[in-house]
Amino acid sequence: MISQTSFFTVPIQHPNQGEATYVLFSTHCTRWFIANQSSLEIIQSIVQTGTPEQAALQIAQKYGISLEIAQQDTQNVWHQVQQSGFLISQTSSPQKIILDTLFIHITNACNLHCPHCYAGSSAQNREFLPLSLLRKLFEEMQDLQGKKITITGGEPLLHPEIQGILTSAQAVARTQMLTNGSLISEPIADFLAKNNIGIQISLDGSTATAHDALRGHGSFAKVASAIEQLKTAGHQKRISLCTTVHQATLQDLPNIVDLAQAWNVPLLRFLPIMKLGRSHSNWNTLDIPLEEQYPNPLIAHIQNSMPKMRFEYGISGLTFESREGAEIWCPIGTMIVVAANGDAYPCPMMMMSPWKLGNVHEHSLKELLTSRKMAEIIKIIEERPKKIEECVTCDWRTLCQSGCLASSLNQYGTPWTQDCFCSYRKQFYPNMFSKLITF
Ligand code: SF4
Ligand code: SF4
Repeated sequence: MISQTSFFTVPIQHPNQGEATYVLFSTHCTRWFIANQSSLEIIQSIVQTGTPEQAALQIAQKYGISLEIAQQDTQNVWHQVQQSGFLISQTSSPQKIILDTLFIHITNACNLHCPHCYAGSSAQNREFLPLSLLRKLFEEMQDLQGKKITITGGEPLLHPEIQGILTSAQAVARTQMLTNGSLISEPIADFLAKNNIGIQISLDGSTATAHDALRGHGSFAKVASAIEQLKTAGHQKRISLCTTVHQATLQDLPNIVDLAQAWNVPLLRFLPIMKLGRSHSNWNTLDIPLEEQYPNPLIAHIQNSMPKMRFEYGISGLTFESREGAEIWCPIGTMIVVAANGDAYPCPMMMMSPWKLGNVHEHSLKELLTSRKMAEIIKIIEERPKKIEECVTCDWRTLCQSGCLASSLNQYGTPWTQDCFCSYRKQFYPNMFSKLITF
């Protein structure tokens, strides 16, 4: 039975009229329920009296209505509450071991030397994960019901066995390759199209001058050519562009939106800069205060000018539900990230020794997923909303869950503070609930 302590209530603004509306959040799982004033009163009455029948009696007496009508109303509300799953605790069932995503840096070699590279890749690096090992990982992934493989680097197209890697990966899960785009020739574009490999190309400027200042002379022309080759190969639908937001790209973001649209790519992503790899050493020339990263005119420009293209802001956790079968929205626990030397981590933004899970040369993916270190990290994620002072009393704590652990670690050096997108979420959730109740 629902009790006084099993939920808390957050009033939200109804956009059209003054009707009082509330979101009821479960205190023990991520479920929620939207109620108007009378539904809330019925639920409170059920809590107080202990059963829907007793609540109907109380309501009939209080408002002088017939018991039959009060019973109907009470049963309706009670039925909706139960249907919503708002009262169900998901934590009681044992969690399945699932590897949703495998994110592999197959090499740390790169033909470019970008100042903001989180992997610290360069032409001097020569580590390559062998195809034989990667095939073994893909087989293990299949056993763990894996859905998505991301192949990255360094520049993955420098790997001598890249075609075998991509076809072996695609045989077990939806595969995407992250590339700087500089090595995509006509035969490579044809190969990628034939094997339906998703391609994310980095774009750090809307002009050759802006992009090449970060990525080297001639890089922009190569990206433009890669996109043409992929389109000619009939692979347009699986191209996305990705821009890292920092001091040098900020002013150019609206133009990048326009260029992506002119190139007719289906998806543009902006990623916030993280203090990792080479960006850590160049932090003074890259860092920008978070509130300046997504200024309102930019967001308005994106919203007004993107009829066909999808856009991702790179602000994780703007979600209303946790992922399937778990109480946390963060993919940690269902993802393994592998560095070019085989070291395994829980998240691409946590590739640091304190968070190392093991090494794929020595451990199976299942061993890494069930490792003591992974359990320790998941526990930190679960504890954050209960321990971070500002989150403990925040209305949005069951959805936000104190934001992104990696972001707190990278920006503030500790897991025990809310992440840098806190203020965005505090605006986002009430706005989205207000929109939701008009549907
Ligand atoms: S990070 Fe901010 S929005 Fe999220 S729970 Fe904590 S205080 Fe609330
Ligand atoms: S910690 Fe943050 S960046 Fe890492 S998987 Fe979770 S949400 Fe994503």
